[in-house]
Order: sequence, then C-alpha cells, then structure tokens
Amino acid sequence: MTSRPQIPFNLPTRAATELAYVAQAFESGHTSASGEFARRAAQIIADDTGAAEVLMTTSCTSALELSGMLMDFQPGETVIVPSFTFSASALAFAREGARLIFCDIEPETLGLDPNHVAELLDDSVRAVVPVHYAGIGARMEALDEVLARRPDVAVIEDNAHGLFGTLNGRPLGGLGALATQSFHETKNFSCGEGGALVINDESYLDRARVLYDKGTNRRAFFLGQVDKYSWRDTGSSFGLSDLLAAGLTAQLEERKAIQGRRQEIFEQYAALLGPPADELGFTIPVVPAGREPAWHMFYLLLPDNPTRDRLLAELRENGIQATFHYVPLHSSKGGHRFAARETDCPVSTDVSGRLIRLPFHNHLSDGDVDRVADTVLEVLR
Ligand SMILES: *Cc1c(COP(=O)(O)O)cnc(C)c1O
Repeated sequence: MTSRPQIPFNLPTRAATELAYVAQAFESGHTSASGEFARRAAQIIADDTGAAEVLMTTSCTSALELSGMLMDFQPGETVIVPSFTFSASALAFAREGARLIFCDIEPETLGLDPNHVAELLDDSVRAVVPVHYAGIGARMEALDEVLARRPDVAVIEDNAHGLFGTLNGRPLGGLGALATQSFHETKNFSCGEGGALVINDESYLDRARVLYDKGTNRRAFFLGQVDKYSWRDTGSSFGLSDLLAAGLTAQLEERKAIQGRRQEIFEQYAALLGPPADELGFTIPVVPAGREPAWHMFYLLLPDNPTRDRLLAELRENGIQATFHYVPLHSSKGGHRFAARETDCPVSTDVSGRLIRLPFHNHLSDGDVDRVADTVLEVLR
C-alpha cells in the first residue's frame, strides 16, 4: 500500500466568517427558522435567480416535497423525472401521491432528454423535473419547445448541482416555475443539511408560504397582511434553523472565491485529461455553447464498465477516493414500485456503468489534482 496521503472525494466547503456567524446566531437568541441569517441567505439566492421569493428549507429533498405539495396531485397524475438522478428527485413526488414516468438523459449534458420527454408526455403529466447534472445546464431550450403547448405542466428544476451556473445568460434555478437547492455536505455550499425552494412563478407564492409554515398563515401575519394567524392547509416544518443558515450565509457571501477555485480545479483537470482522452478512449464533461457551469463536479466516461471498475479500484489503492454515481432509478426497486409504467432509459444505464467522479472540493491543491490526473493516465495506459 501507498504511504502517500489520501485524497478524499469530498470535504465540505468552509468560509472565513462561518464560525463567527454561527456564534452570532447563537447569541442573537433566534435559532429557529426564518431568522436574520435565513433572510440573508435567501436574499443572495433570490438576487441571483431573480426569484419572487426563496424559502430556506431543511434539505433539497424537503424543498422537492414542498413543490410536490404545491402540485396538489389528483389520482392518476404523473411527474416526468430523469432516471439518472438521486432518489430524492423522484421520491418527493411519489410521496405526494404522483406516479413517476422515468425519462432518459441525453449523452452530452447527461440532463433530461427533451426528445424522450416529447415521447412520454401525455395528459396525466403535471410536472417535469430537469436536473442540471454536474452543474451544466440541461437542454432547457428544447424542453421549453416540447412543453410550449402544455402550460398546465410545471417545470420544477432540481438545481442541487447548479446554483450560480447559467444557460444563455439566464441563471440555473431561475428557469422553472419552481427550483430546489441543496446545501448538503457534498454540495458546493453546505451547512451539513439544508436546502431552499426557489419560487419563480408568483402564483405559487401565497400557498407556498402557508405549507412552509406548518400549514399556517403566520408569514402573512408577519407581513402585516392579516391581524392573527391560524391553521389553514396541509404543510410541514420545512424551515432551516438560523444556526445552519448562519454558516451557509458566510459561504454564500464568499461565492465568488468558492466558485472561482472550483472553476480552476475543473479547468486543471480538463487541461490534463482532455488532450489524451481520445487516444485512451474516455471522455471528459462537455460544456455546450451558452453554458457557464456551476462547477459542481468533474467526471470521466470510460469506454466500458470493466475499465471503469478497474480504474476505481486502482485509484483507491493509490489513496485516491474517486467514486461512481447514480444507479438508474427506472431499474431500481423504488422506481418499479412508483412508476406509472415501464420506460426504456438506455443512456442512463450505459452512463451509470461507465461514469467515474474524481475528487472535487475546495480543499484540493494543484498538486492533488496533478496526482489524480497522473494516476488516472498511468492506470489507463
Ligand atoms: C444532493 C441532491 C439532492 C438531495 O439533496 P438533500 O439536500 O440531501 O436533500 C437532490 N437532487 C440531486 C440531484 C442531488 O444531487
């Protein structure tokens, strides 16, 4: 075994003012949801996405659940979700009573394939959930065309990877009627567990505020719109504690530096691994025209599954924690259980078997990135 230090796959982002902000939240006495730091974090996200309002939540999963509640699904209604995504993108809607239609991804961005959406779209569909995989904008231009004649179908962006990325100059997270963010330990900005619901379509605003606040119109009360508040509707306790929002606010305020460093790491990997890729039979992420990525990850697509697994094993032996990604949902146990019908997602299956994610986080040094890239090339040669 090697005596060289381990290179972890992920280490949470930290900001210089993080601990001071957390202490300030403690001392303020307001440690529950809807505090001053939650307001500041939400404002930064709203300013970037152009949202009507941003509600800070306990996770991206809970923000997806909140958006599912807003859909008010009737029996037989469905949601189109990519097969190549995290369980939560689908689970949240299944939990709110929708059946799922699993859609394939397209091979360049690894985002939802608009042609497959067009094939799958029927009268049962109430929402479509694009994911901007790796923080690279999905084919939203084509998706908008497919959905142009279906104003009854809501686009809910699962933007867990995409905050501060853009597509044709428009912010990821600002493209759907609703969008959801994740501040889980593994994301670009993190407070352990956290998330946000980005409300772009104002028609959801009033009800979203009620569902967010345990089914009460407490928010309207604080906005001076009513003189007392009471129970109105379904909902849950979705709010992010201000202790967590404090650390997150510190990171969001340093977004330029954090995203800048991630871009450098991405570009260093691309410069080292791009040129020999063709000859060795693998590919690096494609950034189609008009996209500024959110620099969430760096992945490789190997020629076949055995090569991927061998590379994973050999990187681990060399102290480098690379990893695979999603097992396609359409072929999972939960997917079978909640699917409206069986669908074919061959690209998802193929990509899942060939994809490897390299270490990617703000604590990597240039030397670490060199070492990872060198080891990848040694193994493949
Ligand atoms: C991380 C992630 C989620 C879940 O985020 P949580 O904040 O952990 O609930 C959902 N969707 C995608 C695409 C993710 O990467």
